[in-house]
Amino acid sequence: MAEIKSGEGSLAAPERHPLDWKSSNFHDAESLHAELERVFDICHGCRRCFNLCNAFPTLFDAVDESESGELDSVSRPVHWDVVDQCYLCDMCFSKCPYVPPHPWNVDFPHLMLRAKAKRFKDKGAPLRDRVLASPEQVGAIAGVPVIAEAVNAVNRSSVGRRLLEKTLGIDRRAPMPVYQRRTARKRLRARIGNTGQTGQPIAGTNGRTVLFATCYGNRNVPGVVEDLVAVFEHNGVAVALAMAETCCGMPRLELGDLESVQRSRNANIPTLLSWVQSGWDIVSPIPSCTLMFKQELPLLFPDDPDVAAVASA
Ligand code: SF4
Ligand code: SF4
Repeated sequence: MAEIKSGEGSLAAPERHPLDWKSSNFHDAESLHAELERVFDICHGCRRCFNLCNAFPTLFDAVDESESGELDSVSRPVHWDVVDQCYLCDMCFSKCPYVPPHPWNVDFPHLMLRAKAKRFKDKGAPLRDRVLASPEQVGAIAGVPVIAEAVNAVNRSSVGRRLLEKTLGIDRRAPMPVYQRRTARKRLRARIGNTGQTGQPIAGTNGRTVLFATCYGNRNVPGVVEDLVAVFEHNGVAVALAMAETCCGMPRLELGDLESVQRSRNANIPTLLSWVQSGWDIVSPIPSCTLMFKQELPLLFPDDPDVAAVASA
């Protein structure tokens, strides 16, 4: 293949490099800010992503309003303002012509993740962020009969929303999930651990799928999970649920709390792996949870064969 020059783009497929989050350099402040400055300078010269989210306008406005009009006169606190505006949607990665294997090696979302991880390690996270990043624990309380109705009523009332805004800093206009008493796992109880089913292998699948219901699917939109089961059944595919599942870890990843992501990995991967080894495929109804298993965990644990086996199932 022809050598890639430092110009725009290439015909090579984008690559994602593993996150070296256990190395001391990953959390080193000087190394982090040097990399932020390097990538921010490339972005300042490119500006393609100006309209994707608030992170890029925050950066570009700071550069334009700085003394020299270049990155050298943008202060470090602004770096954190940019990081705060990124919610790791990955859109800029798909748009960027300088992602690996380009030698400029720009992976903006993973650089933001590294910065979030550094900040979480040094300072933790505010109460609001910790609450929002704990869907399983919040759902376990908010989904209890009677409490579920009370929580939903508070979330629907303007007084309740003002209170939430004042105490937790959750904007009163932000959409809030509705909590269901009858979770997906309750509705599909007969399928939990039900390995004695046979299905019809179709389109390269095994015809048997274990459904990772997810926190949101289980507690907030159980009807979607039931619908998915109905679609599989209609197509002759057997569906079971694992004996237990815990949050995939995506909300914690977004906080930069990588140790908690490892705990989620430790809770879910052995269970899912045993299903894979018994010839079952894995399906999740929520894209971000699927992304966690298929992309983020393999990049966080690149030498882990169990994570790789689950990612490929
Ligand atoms: S990954 Fe972050 S910086 Fe990139 S488009 Fe999404 S929110 Fe913006
Ligand atoms: S992430 Fe890539 S495409 Fe987006 S502004 Fe930066 S260099 Fe340009």
